[in-house]
Amino acid sequence: MGTRYDWEEAEIRAIYDTPLLELIYQAATIHRQYHDSRKIQVCKLVSIKTGACPEDCGYCAQSSRYKTEVKPQSLLDKQTVVDIAKQAKESGVSRVCMGAAWREVRDNSQFDQVLDMVKEVTALDLEVCCTLGMLNESQAKRLEDAGLYAYNHNLDTSEDYYSTIITTRTYGDRLRTIDNVRQTNVTVCSGGILGLGETVEDRVSMLKTLSNLQPHPESVPINILSQVEGTPLENQPDVPVWEIIRMIATARIVMPTSDVRLSAGRSRLSEIEQAMCFMAGANSIFSSDDGKMLTVTTPCPGYDTDKEMLELLGLETRESKSKESRSKVRGQRSKVEV
Ligand code: SF4
Repeated sequence: MGTRYDWEEAEIRAIYDTPLLELIYQAATIHRQYHDSRKIQVCKLVSIKTGACPEDCGYCAQSSRYKTEVKPQSLLDKQTVVDIAKQAKESGVSRVCMGAAWREVRDNSQFDQVLDMVKEVTALDLEVCCTLGMLNESQAKRLEDAGLYAYNHNLDTSEDYYSTIITTRTYGDRLRTIDNVRQTNVTVCSGGILGLGETVEDRVSMLKTLSNLQPHPESVPINILSQVEGTPLENQPDVPVWEIIRMIATARIVMPTSDVRLSAGRSRLSEIEQAMCFMAGANSIFSSDDGKMLTVTTPCPGYDTDKEMLELLGLETRESKSKESRSKVRGQRSKVEV
């Protein structure tokens, strides 16, 4: 099966509903056709600017609209970020993602500082990803010029369910930012969150949108909701692990060349459950030096714990991809109409 951009929802639903072990087998087979299944990329997420975000994402501890335990923190200085990145690299990390709780990028001195951080961390031979909110084409170009490897902008859920979770921007806004990134050679990271109260149809619909983007996002994070006290979604039930595995396997099958990242929420999974996720085609995790992903509300296993788990499972960490190996995607627009 080659790379396809015309998946129908019914086809994706049929994959999602395949008997579980058969689904994992199919996904594992495709994983081995396109990737070295012994390699896992370890990523480190750094919150370079925390909290006080004007958006109203119903799951987020950093929205200024909700009273959560997260304390706002202004933009970190460059050296702090570089030091975190150096320590991460020594611990087996090959990709560093910098997140700022902004609605959108503005052309100001703070963006200039982020561009500087991107340059310095890229010089450490790490894949650098940024997640800074919405941006326009010229801002994407400036990030490209600074050496940025990837830009993260998650769709979170289906188009239909999106407005239940977020009202301060639209699904179309999300797709436009992804399209702006696609006008450069910066790769795209876009995925979603399980556990927002969405239906299986919503998950399938989101996978359809992602898998109809041409080219597919090079990186597809699958997050599991961390229920944050004070947010509208604080009482959502946990997503059963089998649903997480189904989602990973289906993403692997419909976007075979993408990196599928087992992202936020992994800390609640046992090693055996994580092993099933890797069998189903996940080939990346986020690990940490401080027990958290972006904020304290999303726990994250530590470097040493993850190193032991990977060794136990016979897996190795993956090096960063060289700039030359990036797909040349400039000018290829998304095929999704919004
Ligand atoms: S998810 Fe991002 S945009 Fe939404 S409230 Fe949180 S920091 Fe802001």
